[in-house]
Amino acid sequence: RQARLQNRFAVAYQAGMDEQYLRRLQIVQALPKAVREQRLQLHYQPKLATATGTVVGVEALLRWRDEHLGVVRPDEFIPLAEQTGEIYRLTQWVISAGLAQLALWHEQGHKLSLAMNLSALDLSSPSLVTELQQQAKQQGIAPAWITLEVTESAVMEDPTSAKAKLQALRELGFKIAIDDYGTGYASLAQLKQLPADELKLDRSFIQELAHSEVDQTIVQSTLALAHQLQLQTVAEGVEDQATWQVLQRLGCTTVQGFYFSRPLAAAEFEVWLKQHQQGQQA
Ligand code: C2E
Ligand code: MG
Ligand code: MG
Ligand code: MG
Repeated sequence: RQARLQNRFAVAYQAGMDEQYLRRLQIVQALPKAVREQRLQLHYQPKLATATGTVVGVEALLRWRDEHLGVVRPDEFIPLAEQTGEIYRLTQWVISAGLAQLALWHEQGHKLSLAMNLSALDLSSPSLVTELQQQAKQQGIAPAWITLEVTESAVMEDPTSAKAKLQALRELGFKIAIDDYGTGYASLAQLKQLPADELKLDRSFIQELAHSEVDQTIVQSTLALAHQLQLQTVAEGVEDQATWQVLQRLGCTTVQGFYFSRPLAAAEFEVWLKQHQQGQQA
């Protein structure tokens, strides 16, 4: 399948395609090798309890710097990895690298949870559930420490099959988060049926929150809905203190965003965490 795809790219290139197209072709060609040789990295962004500021977990986010392509953002390479099928190997690597790091942190006494992003295709993979179960067991981590983030639209691509997978994961004790909530097309009836533990409000509702009454109304009613459905709530994209204060007032469970920290390499995150914890004691 990949050969066929690369062929299509090559033909298009010969016909004289633009620079963006060439870059996409180069990404498609370089990614499998980069995954095989473990040249991608995970960065970690803290998630904090809104009321206390205590760090409760991290979200793992892929980073890739290629020697020829420079920095390639996940928004750029994830959709291509989905098109070529490389996403399966990529997700496998994210799971094993993320859980190995989490095991280290737990050994060091940092009782954090780890959130990882899954794509729509991962939800169709027959080995996903056993893969996660085995990796967690191998690393000695209870599944309750692990959250799997799936977007509303990923679930809606094949709701019946996705629901079955998510249900199976939940029965094993993994947590499920609906990522970028509010940007997809899930109806309230569908949301009610999703096997989920957490709702992550998309940052498009958060970024103007402190200044926008409309966004406050949307967020307030979404939080009320989540509460009714007994879901935890996370606001992503918190960039200033005023926004954090609004979320405290509205009762959102967890906050995440540049105001607290950007996604950081593991060693940098450890330094940040220590400083943050010292600041909290002071
Ligand atoms: P996402 O899962 O919704 O991740 C949140 C994105 O928002 C991240 O972008 C993060 O760096 C960014 N962000 C966090 N706080 C702030 C903030 O305060 N302001 C702003 N403007 N942005 C903030 P990133 O790392 O570029 O990732 C983009 C998307 O790529 C992710 O969205 C996720 O859908 C996907 N992605 C990243 N890593 C993985 C992965 O390991 N597997 C899969 N399947 N997708 C991934
Ligand atoms: Mg996410
Ligand atoms: Mg998100
Ligand atoms: Mg997103």
